[in-house]
Amino acid sequence: MLDTSNRTEEIMKSVAIIGGGVAGMEAAARLSKCGHAVTIIERNEQLGGRLNQWHALFPARKPALPLLMSLKQGISDGVNVIINAHITGIEKNEDGFAIMLNKNRVVTANTLLLTTGFDIFEAERKEEYGYGIYDNVITSVDLEQVFRSGKPIQTAGGKTPKRIGFVHCVGSRDEKAGNLHCSKVCCVTAVKQAIEVKEMLPSSEVFLYYMDLRMFGRHFEELYKEAQFKHSIQFIRARLSEAFENPDGSLQIRIEDTLLAKPLKMSLDMLVLMVGIQPPKKAGNILDMLKLERDTDGFVLQEDQYVSPFKTKIPGLYCAGGVTGPKTIEETLTEARAVAAEISEYLGRRRINYAGQEQYVMEL
Ligand code: SF4
Repeated sequence: MLDTSNRTEEIMKSVAIIGGGVAGMEAAARLSKCGHAVTIIERNEQLGGRLNQWHALFPARKPALPLLMSLKQGISDGVNVIINAHITGIEKNEDGFAIMLNKNRVVTANTLLLTTGFDIFEAERKEEYGYGIYDNVITSVDLEQVFRSGKPIQTAGGKTPKRIGFVHCVGSRDEKAGNLHCSKVCCVTAVKQAIEVKEMLPSSEVFLYYMDLRMFGRHFEELYKEAQFKHSIQFIRARLSEAFENPDGSLQIRIEDTLLAKPLKMSLDMLVLMVGIQPPKKAGNILDMLKLERDTDGFVLQEDQYVSPFKTKIPGLYCAGGVTGPKTIEETLTEARAVAAEISEYLGRRRINYAGQEQYVMEL
């Protein structure tokens, strides 16, 4: 008789990931490689999240598209993807989670990972800056779309702008806006975008109005020096009070120069608002369904910031990426890889041999 005691049958453990952006896709690829059955649940019709809106990434100004393609390639084999998904309920049971979706679909999984990302501050809320009122006031996201389109930078009237201003901390570090936190990535984004504008329009004058410059990351300082010394971009420590439109469509701004302690008026052709990162509102109901605690800024509260940054108070429920606070793409990718390793460790990899013995194997 054939001895089958050494043959094994693998029992896949499953992971559901809510959110198919950078963190969700990277974690899915890693978990799938570890032998788990992975389902990404995405509310939009395409994966990629905010990366879809971006043209070039700081600090090296590498194009965003190859990273997006590489993340998609990583999940192309073996990861189940559900798009246009609306979550109507989540239940925790003994085996894990049951996630109820529109069209009467249910996804069951042993573990659940939340990578629902963040929202961008709605610039219209700072009425005094004129976004949505004056055509030549745009956001950093709008400007990135112009870069992506490959079209020239033009004012709403079709002219080449000669004086362009960037305002930092729009909707961040702002008590009135309800966001006390620093969004972390907008200082370096402003410097990157200012350089890109100068490269496209070398004869233009570019001004950055900042509270503090938070150029904390590797090679950010070089970018700052390049902006100052190579492109003569002007850094003005100031707070913007308000913007007005002139009859010809150009703009007047009132600023408080916080170094000189003087109010100033300046004229510009275009104003770019560096909109901040805030907790995700649309994903808020998912967090409520799971009764997840938020921190003082409204992001998901981690079990322990140092010891277990991806765990929540619910066993088997993890979170990573922008849902716990502003992150760079590098940090988000690192978190995705780390949370995948942690989930894999939590699940183990269960094999059952023909003698009926269970074996737990962890392969990363
Ligand atoms: S990163 Fe810079 S622009 Fe963004 S909120 Fe912080 S200080 Fe303001």
